[in-house]
Amino acid sequence: MTAKENKYTIEEITYLKPWTDHLFSFRASRHEGFKFIPGQFARLGVTKSDSSVVWRPYSIVSADYDEELEFYSIIVPDGEFTQILKNLKVGDKIFVDKTNYGLLTTDRFENGKHLWLLSTGTGIAPFISIMYEFNLWEQYEKIILVHCARVGEELTYQELINSFYTHEFYGDMVKDKLKYVRLLTRENQGADLYGRVTDLLRNNKLEEHLNTPINAIDSRIMVCGNPEMVDETRKLLAERGLTISRRGKPGNMAVENYW
Ligand SMILES: Cc1cc2nc3c(=O)[nH]c(=O)nc-3n(C[C@H](O)[C@H](O)[C@H](O)COP(=O)(O)OP(=O)(O)OC[C@H]3O[C@@H](n4cnc5c(N)ncnc54)[C@H](O)[C@@H]3O)c2cc1C
Repeated sequence: MTAKENKYTIEEITYLKPWTDHLFSFRASRHEGFKFIPGQFARLGVTKSDSSVVWRPYSIVSADYDEELEFYSIIVPDGEFTQILKNLKVGDKIFVDKTNYGLLTTDRFENGKHLWLLSTGTGIAPFISIMYEFNLWEQYEKIILVHCARVGEELTYQELINSFYTHEFYGDMVKDKLKYVRLLTRENQGADLYGRVTDLLRNNKLEEHLNTPINAIDSRIMVCGNPEMVDETRKLLAERGLTISRRGKPGNMAVENYW
């Protein structure tokens, strides 16, 4: 086996769930050696018609103890990767790089009372994995999950998120601590608030809705998804004194851009 072949394992698609015409989730078998920290992403490979492999990073939705790996994907018109991915069926093969990647992990934070998870679109994926971390429910007083989409049908994973409130092990803590806020930007019903994350931060509507102010002492904020939202949010929060967490220099923010 060459070094290159040795870099990945060949896994099998085990489950597909379409949400809309451009959003779906899928699961793949997980090699027993594949480890990751909730919030991290895997690099996935699919085979093109010329037999070459195209790779893309994908946040892992599933818990770190899950036997399979779940992913949540957009379908990009003309997208090199997703135009192949969307045609895969249960039983088809997908390549999974053996390395786990990414710094969108809660171990970058110290102290803090409120964990904010701000996402747009498929950017909710790593936060679902993070919500399976038992110790976080003990550690934080509130975990605030914000999911922003354009229209109601894109507010996916609601059933799973709501099932945390009755979780066998930590449902009682979730009941007190989880604040789940759905945002829509192009419809005015079916959500908790209307408007973009950045606008609702700027006009304080998000904090007012949650009765929870953002500040550098209490807040630990993770942001994931659309790069414009991520960058703008980072700047808005920097104006309030929040800084990106870096190795050896813990701050209050961790961000990930999807493109
Ligand atoms: C760290 C990381 C984690 C990621 N995790 C996920 C994930 O969990 N789920 C997922 O669907 N994508 C994720 N992405 C994006 C993913 O890697 C691909 O870009 C996406 O699958 C499209 O691939 P493509 O080749 O079809 O199109 P690309 O050529 O890669 O992208 C074409 C264009 O499509 C748009 N686009 C790409 N990804 C998205 C998206 N997720 N939502 C909306 N518009 C998008 C952008 O405008 C981009 O320029 C992640 C990216 C990074 C960097």
